[in-house]
Amino acid sequence: MTRHRIPARQGLSFELSAGESFEIVDPEGAQVADLVAFRADDHAERFSPKYTYRREGTLRPSTGNRLYTTEGNAILRIVDDDCGVHDLLYGPCNHWILEEYYGQDGIGCRGNLSEVLGPEGIRTSDLQETMNVFMKSAIEGDRVEIVEPDSEPGDSIGLEAEMDALVGVTACSGEAVVNAGEAKPIDVRLPDGALLRTTFE
Ligand SMILES: [Zn+2]
Repeated sequence: MTRHRIPARQGLSFELSAGESFEIVDPEGAQVADLVAFRADDHAERFSPKYTYRREGTLRPSTGNRLYTTEGNAILRIVDDDCGVHDLLYGPCNHWILEEYYGQDGIGCRGNLSEVLGPEGIRTSDLQETMNVFMKSAIEGDRVEIVEPDSEPGDSIGLEAEMDALVGVTACSGEAVVNAGEAKPIDVRLPDGALLRTTFE
């Protein structure tokens, strides 16, 4: 396994074979990492938050839960999880979310994912559905809002591939409550040689 640091507001992509695993680590705490996953031999089939909570019956998947695709197949399984609080409801931040909600410039998680997955044929319009690792959404009645993450410095989540997969991970760009006010780095531990592309040097 090789540890890679994703600097604040950046992202990377990698390839996994079925049975291989990886970890996402929040080195400083209270930092969100957006995760997307595509079937390696058919990118039209991709991780679906909606079908994941349909199949698993929870909005907060954790150890033992599987992440399912747009065709209802398991693509990733959570094998360990220090935090236990992640989000399946919100789409990835992007240029208009950063501008309208956070008063920031930038391309956000969707732009970063597009940069590292676009060369594989993934369109920006196919990057709407993420597992927002370490992100905390709070539901009260019919209202939903983003609150500060529960993740502590060093918290990690481990996932194992249930099929050959193309995966993207970002360090979320929001300098707001979503990341407790400051965009920070995210670390990933990947199988040696799995790294495909980064938005940074
Ligand atoms: Zn983001």
